[in-house]
Amino acid sequence: PGGPDDSLDPVVRDNRDYTLFSWSVQSTSNPIHMAGAQGCWFWDGDGNRYLDFSSQLININVGHQHPKMLEAIKKQVDELCFAGPSFATGPRGQLGRKLAEVTGLAKSFYTLGGAEANENAMKIARLVTGRDKIITRYRSYHGATMGAMTASGDPRRWPVEPGVPNIVRVFDPYCYRCPFGKTPDSCGRECVTHIEEVIQMEGPHNIAAIMVEGITGSNGLLVPPDDYYPRLRALCDKYGILLIDDEVMSGFGRTGKWLATQHYGIKPDIVTCAKGLTSGYMPLGAVVVSQHIADYFEKNMLWGGLTYSGHPVSCAAAVANLNIYEEERIFEHVLELGAHLEERLLAMKHKYACVGDVRMKGLFSVLELVRDKATKEPLAPFNGTSPEMQKLAVHLKSQRLYAFSRFNMLWVCPPLVITRDELDFGLDIIEGALALVDDLIAV
Ligand code: PLP
Repeated sequence: PGGPDDSLDPVVRDNRDYTLFSWSVQSTSNPIHMAGAQGCWFWDGDGNRYLDFSSQLININVGHQHPKMLEAIKKQVDELCFAGPSFATGPRGQLGRKLAEVTGLAKSFYTLGGAEANENAMKIARLVTGRDKIITRYRSYHGATMGAMTASGDPRRWPVEPGVPNIVRVFDPYCYRCPFGKTPDSCGRECVTHIEEVIQMEGPHNIAAIMVEGITGSNGLLVPPDDYYPRLRALCDKYGILLIDDEVMSGFGRTGKWLATQHYGIKPDIVTCAKGLTSGYMPLGAVVVSQHIADYFEKNMLWGGLTYSGHPVSCAAAVANLNIYEEERIFEHVLELGAHLEERLLAMKHKYACVGDVRMKGLFSVLELVRDKATKEPLAPFNGTSPEMQKLAVHLKSQRLYAFSRFNMLWVCPPLVITRDELDFGLDIIEGALALVDDLIAV
């Protein structure tokens, strides 16, 4: 604990003195006291209003304090707060039915969040195939529990290494910095073909699943080429490998569809989800499995369980949330506003020297910042920061724009209910920050 500091807001002080903040050196954590929130805005203890361009952790898709969410949760709390995981409840079944409908898969196993969903997806893939190895990608994040953390390629896994055995990593469809040195003209989809080589070297009969984020989120919004998924699906089918699609961040309207992979016309064997499943109102994750996998568990034991699996209040929140997506035609709004966002980001790429690349799908987007467009030298190193990136973050915070930045990237992922005016308001602030960075790198 930093000890009493009378200059601090008492809420911040208690939080700093008695709680640990994730992914941070505690003495440097500087939390905002969130006193209230509505829609795309939240405010601190002094009444300062922030526009949330990060949807908290890219999860509060329908915005803060949506009245239908509050009503559904309150109703379920009055009816039944808890039932153990072996009981049948209304919300549990309703949500299962809805998830089967929107994913085209069969049955759901519920968890409390994304990491647990991925842990269970990997376990299910191993049980069903009788194989041990899971292929994942380097630029990926699948959660912070031991297995999900090892499955992540993200540097956040380094402190837990060696982690769990039998994770094999491959490279990503990162076209701006192709790991194979290709350009669009010379590309032979090495991002898929090298996976076949890895499969051969690891033994196809040993590989249970390939687990990928629908669209890579916290490692830089890597939108794959259009034929990436059909090719990956074909590779899985060729070797009897299950395709696990981690839609924790990219699912539920973030890209304008239920699942990011639905843009590419393929169906995974397993979908994992969390975040936008309840828009964060209650903790919930799900592992949604194909009919083939569901059939397997008709005769075979499902070795897995959690006290809070199928929590009625969480499931009721998810049902209400999925209904809101449909009733308020939110995905249409995302596609429409996404086109506007794309236009503005492309204009920024053209206008500012520091914008090397912009990548987006719906309201899921990133600006990748560089010192020099020709050499693509990053504005901050991989797994590091720089004075320029820090100044950018400080500037955005001073303008009360809450946006996620990491390494040399800045994300624009507002709640899906944001209006065009609100989006433009935030993007104008970002343009101010980019102009500032351009000045810094010009000297
Ligand atoms: N998978 C992806 C793609 C994520 O982005 C995240 C969290 O950011 C997770 C899994 C982990 O989810 P949770 O933090 O709910 O455990």
